[in-house]
Amino acid sequence: MFDFIVKHFTNDIAIDLGTSNIVICTKRDGILLNEPAVVAFKKGQIDKKGVLAVGKEAQLMMGKTPRAIETIRPMRDGVIADFRATEIMIHFLIERVYRRKRFVKPRIIVCLPREVTQVERNAVKEAALHAGAREVLLVDEPMAAAIGAGLDVARPDGNMVVDIGAGTTEVGVTSLGGLVLCKASRVAGDRIDKAILDFVRQRYNLHIGIRTAESIKVEIGTASPPDEPLKTTIKGRDNFGYLIRLELCDEEIRQAIKEPLAQMAMTLKNVLEVMPAELASDIVDNGIVLTGGGAHIRGLDKYFSNVLELPVRVADEPLLGVARGLGELLRNEKLLQKVHGREKSHILPKHIRL
Ligand code: ADP
Ligand code: MG
Repeated sequence: MFDFIVKHFTNDIAIDLGTSNIVICTKRDGILLNEPAVVAFKKGQIDKKGVLAVGKEAQLMMGKTPRAIETIRPMRDGVIADFRATEIMIHFLIERVYRRKRFVKPRIIVCLPREVTQVERNAVKEAALHAGAREVLLVDEPMAAAIGAGLDVARPDGNMVVDIGAGTTEVGVTSLGGLVLCKASRVAGDRIDKAILDFVRQRYNLHIGIRTAESIKVEIGTASPPDEPLKTTIKGRDNFGYLIRLELCDEEIRQAIKEPLAQMAMTLKNVLEVMPAELASDIVDNGIVLTGGGAHIRGLDKYFSNVLELPVRVADEPLLGVARGLGELLRNEKLLQKVHGREKSHILPKHIRL
């Protein structure tokens, strides 16, 4: 009876621990919080007492901080780059949600990149328990992404989803509620931004920040030629420190990001090559679904489709794909029981190098 009451009154929460954004949602309220994964600390004090801001407010401080402040993107390199900061960030964001809504101790579903180690998984669990969870369920990110993209992961046929985030691109193949194959690569949104930054510096001797590089990608980034030419104007510093304006067009940026895009295509190709024949034939029929913020790059579906000679489509609202998958898991207990904790149950044998 008590169990029933607890279940009835609690509002389970789900967290997408992305490398650039953290999304927290509940069954009842949908998305409650969507903030950049950034924490600002007092210089040299990476602990709870040293926290100055978390999320949007901390991102505004990035690149503009006086010497006494340090901003950290704890999940920067795809996996957990700074563990303490990640734990602190989870703690503060969960608390923020708690303050808004008073939950009876909820269950917390946390979605993590597949490459995260067991030690890190345990520590994320620990952080959520400290923040007041009754129970913590971990779900693999590609699985949540596949569910969010509307794929029927419980069916016995193979589906392939590619989640292109900031720090990692995760390729997952689902079948019967499990991840049959999974491969993560560090070539994702951040790497594309870096390629743009390097290009602008080498070609025009112009120094720009990484956020300017990102905005160039968002404004005019393409993987195949667009119907209409695209242009954008940026500001940067030349070698003498003068502020200069520069107009860029889609073609040169397409050239600039050719390399990381080709590497992504290669990762997909490798996964397809090691796949058992029956699964591969399912993928030929079902095609590949792209999700994550990186799926917004114009013409990426067409580009991959040409290279791989397979149908490729972009999921609806790719930036919210994982959160949407988590929403579905909050509503569908049966599916949740099927997919949670199955992380690491199917892994590519070590000898297959991708
Ligand atoms: P993560 O799960 O790692 O937090 P997201 O799925 O939230 O990542 O995607 C963030 C990435 O998507 C960033 O690299 C960002 O620059 C990129 N992105 C977001 N919107 C766009 C857009 N319109 N065009 C191209 N890239 C985008
Ligand atoms: Mg993500």
